[in-house]
Amino acid sequence: MLRGLLAMTAAMSISCSGSNPADSERKYLLERVDEAAVVQLYADGFEALPVDQRMLIWHLYQAAIAGRDIFYDQRYAHNLDMRDVLEAILSRPSGDAETHAEIVRYTKLFWVNTGPYNNLTARKFVLRCTPQQFAAAAHAAAGKGAKFPLRRGESIDALLARLQPMFFDALVDPSVTTKTPPAGRDILQASSNNLYLDVTMKDVDGFDERYPLNSRLVKKNGKMVEEVYRLGGRYDPQIREVTRHLEAAIPFATEPMGKALRALIQWYRTGEERDRRAYDIAWVADKSSPVDTINGFTEVYLDARGIKGAWEALVYYVNTKKTSAIKKLAAEAQWFENHMPWDRKYCKDNVQGITANVIDVVIETGDAGPVTPIGINLPNEQEVREQYGSKSVSISNVNEAYDRSMDAGFRSEFSWSEDEAARARRWQGFAHELTTDLHEVIGHASGKMHGELGCAPQTVLKEQYSAIEESRADLVALYFLPDPKMVEMGLIGSADHADVVQAGYENYARTPLVQLRRIREGTTIEEDHMRNRQMIVHWLMANTKAIEKRVRDRKTYHVMVDAKAFRDGVARLLAEVQRIKANGDYPAAKALFETYGIHFDAALRDEIVARVDKLKLPSYTGFVQPKLEPVRDADGTIRDVKVTYPQDLTTQMLEYSEATRVSREQFRASQTTALSDSVEGRQGR
Ligand SMILES: [Zn+2]
Repeated sequence: MLRGLLAMTAAMSISCSGSNPADSERKYLLERVDEAAVVQLYADGFEALPVDQRMLIWHLYQAAIAGRDIFYDQRYAHNLDMRDVLEAILSRPSGDAETHAEIVRYTKLFWVNTGPYNNLTARKFVLRCTPQQFAAAAHAAAGKGAKFPLRRGESIDALLARLQPMFFDALVDPSVTTKTPPAGRDILQASSNNLYLDVTMKDVDGFDERYPLNSRLVKKNGKMVEEVYRLGGRYDPQIREVTRHLEAAIPFATEPMGKALRALIQWYRTGEERDRRAYDIAWVADKSSPVDTINGFTEVYLDARGIKGAWEALVYYVNTKKTSAIKKLAAEAQWFENHMPWDRKYCKDNVQGITANVIDVVIETGDAGPVTPIGINLPNEQEVREQYGSKSVSISNVNEAYDRSMDAGFRSEFSWSEDEAARARRWQGFAHELTTDLHEVIGHASGKMHGELGCAPQTVLKEQYSAIEESRADLVALYFLPDPKMVEMGLIGSADHADVVQAGYENYARTPLVQLRRIREGTTIEEDHMRNRQMIVHWLMANTKAIEKRVRDRKTYHVMVDAKAFRDGVARLLAEVQRIKANGDYPAAKALFETYGIHFDAALRDEIVARVDKLKLPSYTGFVQPKLEPVRDADGTIRDVKVTYPQDLTTQMLEYSEATRVSREQFRASQTTALSDSVEGRQGR
């Protein structure tokens, strides 16, 4: 549930201290592809790590690549075939330059978004050439030896015909996740992801899932079946490779990390809930290892029900220089809990186990890359969090790369006055870094459930849960930013405090306008972090005098005019949001987002899009990851690992796909068998 996405407007961390001197010259923004930016990520601290930690990272890095295809398949059943077709064509460029350029454009977006669905709007994008031009390019590539993902006895033309609606028709499978479908449509039927097959909410209602997080639900011959993601189950070929690399990592890990890795392998082996839980607990217990990984079926944003886990992997090391501020917050968690502006009965008496680090990632795959979070707090299971705590990370090198690749015009376009723009330039990055830390370390870790609820809040809040939880964490951050405690703790200088708060609140108030640039079609918002920010600002506008909507030269602005009223409103709303979560008040959650968080005015969006396009600002960013390579002795044993920066999305994506070709072929073969089985089954009836 819990992850920070890039909040919105420009800058993240401004703090460039401690970066190496070559920074100003090196390349961050590599290219623009329509509304996406492609940015190189750097892992500056990697070379300074001891060699055994570099070796550890190397094995975890390979595990991260080995599972990447799982998320492709989860996101869309046709994804892997589509990607193999595109990559076959790109690897052997054909004659027609215009068609080739269009295929390159589409493929880059496909890679950045892990398939044909925009990661922010959930909507499908399509190829803009004709099917005939596409087929000609495919045949030309085949003529030069390119391999296509053909089923037994299938011709290239039959393959292209099978995939034509997926590549060319925006109305076929139009949305990957639809939590708010048109009236009368089922949320699972309206979502085109591959977490369910022929299943409706009605089928799910009476069905007891044994593997809620790690299975695909399939309706076969009128019966519900769970296809479990584990060794010997669905994704066996990929999981086999992932666990092989995890095994190889163990000898280089610290003792608590080794324990967590063994627990993870055990979960991959059995798929059972108790082993998943044991892994979560072992992972949380490892609080001080300098290297860590997140690997497995984790976040549930892809699922309209918010139950099924999408596969992801991150490998990272602690950025010791930047960790001290976040550690200070974590150490004071109980103080924050005691000062929450909500009913005492929702306060934890003993907040424990909150571990917070600033980290640099070496690789992020699956649900975590190329579009990456900026902060993460795990595990997601409420009961484990309450008993064992959670770990929070703020991803420093991602924040830095966002900031360095961003155009300065972005900060001023949506500011009402030159003062506001200057404040944003000076303080917005800093305020954002601090509120992100508060969101992750204090926000998500805070509060407890009402004793009588008797189940996880996800179960009752359903599709509203993630947005409620993100709102809660954001509100906690906004509430404490102006608190004198920030100065007492040495996190903000006392002379700067008012300006930091002003800049932070102004930035937040602008967010719902600026983020509309990301939703170029329709008039509803799906993404939970976006829903949360729309809701908070619109609620404040309706219920306080903190923010004014103003128009000048036909441009709309949100002007934050009263920081005290802003904070008072935040306190009231936070008390209500905590109450909703603690009691699982679904109708109240739904009403809150329906009223303030989901729907927007198309004309306003068009205005924002025009302003943003004029500035040529990207809507989202995909990252090219660092590349690791082993350094071998004459006899082939790995002696060390070195890092390089490819600065090219295509090269990296083709390398990743090549690395998993064998397991992908095995997976495809197992799917084809399953397919013919079910066809026979249907004919048999
Ligand atoms: Zn969050």
